[in-house]
Amino acid sequence: MICYQLRCDAGHEFEGWFPGSAAFDDQARRNLLSCPQCGTSDVVRALMAPAVRTAPARVPETARPAPPAGAAIPAAMMAAMQRVRQYVEERCENVGDKFAEEALKIHQGDGERRGIYGRASEEDCDRLVEEGVEIMAIPWVPRADG
Ligand SMILES: [Zn+2]
Repeated sequence: MICYQLRCDAGHEFEGWFPGSAAFDDQARRNLLSCPQCGTSDVVRALMAPAVRTAPARVPETARPAPPAGAAIPAAMMAAMQRVRQYVEERCENVGDKFAEEALKIHQGDGERRGIYGRASEEDCDRLVEEGVEIMAIPWVPRADG
């Protein structure tokens, strides 16, 4: 569908929807178009705006609301999460932003089998789960000693 902005010779503007530009030309030639305000069939195209269905835009990472501050986490839970962090840091390799890449390599047998940790976007995590990679999201709290 194409949406045309139409204008009659009296200057009234209105929109018209057509299956394509040929349909507009055909209807205009046969004087089938008329101004809804004054009824004249002397109608021309003002400008054209193709109607394109676009996917809803993804909310950028930075536009998402910030996670609750650490202070809101009960102390016992915080301590437990700090132990998780410590456990991971002691036993796994920090691959930083390359987490998704490395996890996939290990999963496919291209990388040395080892425990890794790092950062990954939500999209990357979804992809890894689809690939059947075992991953776990860990709330990364500040260290107990830092
Ligand atoms: Zn008119």
